[in-house]
Amino acid sequence: MLSAAAKINLALEVLGRREDGYHEVATVMQAVDLSDRLVIEDAEVLELRVSAPDVPSDGSNLVARAARALRETAAVSRGARITLVKRIPVAAGLGGGSADAAATLMGLSRLWRLGWPRARLAELAATLGTDVPFFLRGGAALGTGRGERVEPVAGAALAFVLVNPGVGTSTPTIYGSVTPAMYSDGSRVDQMVAALRSRRPARVAESLHNALEGVATAAYRQVTQMKAALLAAGALGAGMSGSGLTVFGVARSFDHARQIRARVARGSWSCWAVRAIRGPAIRMRRER
Ligand code: ATP
Repeated sequence: MLSAAAKINLALEVLGRREDGYHEVATVMQAVDLSDRLVIEDAEVLELRVSAPDVPSDGSNLVARAARALRETAAVSRGARITLVKRIPVAAGLGGGSADAAATLMGLSRLWRLGWPRARLAELAATLGTDVPFFLRGGAALGTGRGERVEPVAGAALAFVLVNPGVGTSTPTIYGSVTPAMYSDGSRVDQMVAALRSRRPARVAESLHNALEGVATAAYRQVTQMKAALLAAGALGAGMSGSGLTVFGVARSFDHARQIRARVARGSWSCWAVRAIRGPAIRMRRER
C-alpha cells in the first residue's frame, strides 16, 4: 500500500501573467502527514475504485489519467487494479489529486519494473498537473514557473493544524480573479525559505503569505473565520493553502497542534493536527 501526503503552501506569490495564460508563481510547499491511501495490484486492464462519493472514479480521475499516461509513454501492455481511499479533502488547496497522481506514477513504475530515472517521471508528472512533480519529492520545496519546477529547501520539524470548511473551490476560478495589483516580486518566498532554515516556528508563522488569500476571503467568509479561530486557539500564525479554502495554523510543537485542534473543532469544519514531512511524500506502507 502507498500513502500519498497532502501539501500546504507556506508562501505563495503571483509574479505575473504568462503568454500561455497561466500565472507565474513562486511558492514554498511543505508536505504534511494527512494522506490518501492507494493499493496497486497487478491486473490485465486498468481499473480504478475510489472510496469517496465526491471524487470521480472514471477516466477523469487523476489516478486514471496518470496510469494511462504512464502506460502509453512507457508502451506497457499490462494493466493494474488501483483502489484509492481518500482522506485528503477534495478541491481544498491541499493538492490531493496531484498527490494521488504522483503515487500512481511511482507505484506503477515499480509494478511494471520501468526503472525510469526520476527526471523522466518528473517530466511526465508535469503534464498531469502543476503540483504533481512536487509530490514525487516531498519535504519542503520551492516551486517556480507555474509551480511545476521544484527544488528542495531546508525543512524544519514543524507542526500545523489544518481547518477545512467542507466547501470546495476551484483553482481556475480563484486564479481568474487575480489582478495585477496582487503581483509581487518573490521576496516573501525568499523570506519563508530563510524562516525554514532558522527552524523557528515563530519565524515561519511571521513569514506566511498567500497572494490568493484576498480573492478567497472576498468570496468566502469562512476563510477569515477559520483564521481567527486558529489564532484565538493559540496558533502562532495562520494562512490559507493554495487556492483554498483550507486554512492552517502554525503550532509550537505537535502537542500544541493537538491542543489547538481540540479548541477549534466545531460542527461543519474538519480539523487535523499534522506534522511536516521531511522525507518523501509518497511512501510504501505495510499495514492496510
Ligand atoms: P488543485 O490541483 O486544483 O490545486 P486541489 O488540491 O484544490 O486542486 P483536488 O483535491 O486535487 O484539489 O481536486 C481538484 C478536482 O479534481 C476535484 O474537483 C476533483 O473532482 C478532481 N479530481 C480528479 N481526481 C482526483 C483525485 N484523485 N482526488 C481528488 N480529486 C480529484
